[in-house]
Amino acid sequence: MKLLKCKSKIIGLILGLFIFSIVVVSLTVYAKPVNAMFVDYSNMEQIDKDVYVEPDLKSDERTELLEYVMSSQDKVADVFGERVSSPYLIVTLSQQALKKYAENPTGQTYYYPWKNYIVVGPKGLNVSVISHEFTHAELRERLHNKNKVPVWFDEGLATMVDGRYSNYEKVWMEHSNNGEIPVDYSPLDSHQAFHYGNAEAWTNYNLACYEVSRWYTIVGSSGLIKLIDELNEGEQFDVQYKLLETEASNRD
Ligand SMILES: [Zn+2]
Repeated sequence: MKLLKCKSKIIGLILGLFIFSIVVVSLTVYAKPVNAMFVDYSNMEQIDKDVYVEPDLKSDERTELLEYVMSSQDKVADVFGERVSSPYLIVTLSQQALKKYAENPTGQTYYYPWKNYIVVGPKGLNVSVISHEFTHAELRERLHNKNKVPVWFDEGLATMVDGRYSNYEKVWMEHSNNGEIPVDYSPLDSHQAFHYGNAEAWTNYNLACYEVSRWYTIVGSSGLIKLIDELNEGEQFDVQYKLLETEASNRD
């Protein structure tokens, strides 16, 4: 009996230690996303619906930021027809806030089923970065399963909206031998291809931007919405992507 008690105590202790270490590891690895999630309970100040800043942000900077937010919302609404997502936007400019919320000083989004948390740093305080992250959030909101689209499509759509990759056509020309050799997009179906530290990331963003801009020019926002609907119905991306383009081209 005594032995049994002792045994269950040991098992309890091991189990407790196991749970404790899981909590410690997840709090360390996911510390920033978790901080973003609890921004309502932090010292960050909410200056508009879903917009959070550090309390010492100057009034003209606040005004400027809210103008960027409005322009970004308009850009996303233009591409999708309307904007249905409402992610939180957390603006971090001080080293302290960056350390608490941001993985990089430009922009990033932490995705959760109940809400998306966008964190922008000093390099992301502009319409390009904010509209880029808003586009990701909008697609996630509309698409039931984000894995239904390849990563290059997700990034291509966001770069098409953000406007920073204005040389995309030139980059695509170089990589396709002036359009004679099709670019293989399959290696671009990985987050690694677009990772902040990847030397090829800039090229990959341009190539993704080229392809999605080309496709969107043909299918328009109704085509984009149709694609999302079809994917939510269980259809395959490759098939629908081509089909919508063929249908739109035949209509013209
Ligand atoms: Zn992106």
